[in-house]
Amino acid sequence: MNSEKNKYWFVFCNDQLLLEKTKKGGRVPYQEEAPVPVSEWTRIHELSLFDGQVFHAYSIDNPITENDRYTTVGLRASFDILPRNMYLMAGKAQEIIFWDKNNRYCPVCGMPMKFHTTISKRCSGCGKEIWPIVSTAIIVLVRKGNEILLVHARNFRGDYYGLVAGFVETGETLEECVQREVLEETGLRVQNIRYFGSQPWPYPCGLMVGFTADYASGEIKLQTSELSAGKFFTKENLPDIPGKMSMARMLIDDWLEKN
Ligand SMILES: [Zn+2]
Repeated sequence: MNSEKNKYWFVFCNDQLLLEKTKKGGRVPYQEEAPVPVSEWTRIHELSLFDGQVFHAYSIDNPITENDRYTTVGLRASFDILPRNMYLMAGKAQEIIFWDKNNRYCPVCGMPMKFHTTISKRCSGCGKEIWPIVSTAIIVLVRKGNEILLVHARNFRGDYYGLVAGFVETGETLEECVQREVLEETGLRVQNIRYFGSQPWPYPCGLMVGFTADYASGEIKLQTSELSAGKFFTKENLPDIPGKMSMARMLIDDWLEKN
């Protein structure tokens, strides 16, 4: 067998990723041919990340069930099963499939869009080019003495507390977005805003940018349309916090390590 012809295959049915069954749960199929039949008109995307590793992705219409060799897992749940680089590839695969399906026609003239590069399309009529649009959101850990600000948003799927977060608006810097979101959601002003890190958030097409900041002034007054609870917590009385895959958890863990 010539393994150099093998490649990773990311096959999605909606948000369900196809995995080859293993004792540990599953792995991304690594072989020469597509693991399950590719239907007519379905594009096989050839993609890569910053490390240059090429991988393939396509979508199928019908879920895989009752199969001895393959199983499926949701993209979020795949974080706990796959190595980090495989999870990132899966995220990009899912995003490009989503973007392809949602950008069939030109937004200017309505003619069909055709792939120009692996991650861009050009209109067959007027020549307009489009790329996937990334929606940037900030998330911020606000410190006050030995406490941090945690909130419960109404759209959280569970009872845990997270961090203030929100989408960047046109015309503002990331730091201005941090200030605005904290003020809007909690009535507080912050200072010493520092970049922490970023993370692709393919649910769909997001980029989370994490910051730390210090409390500056104000009394907590929650934006009740978005938040149902929010206050400062010490490390001794932390409520339930988000899972390991989230930027919120990375920020909180980093603070716990340093305090
Ligand atoms: Zn056009």
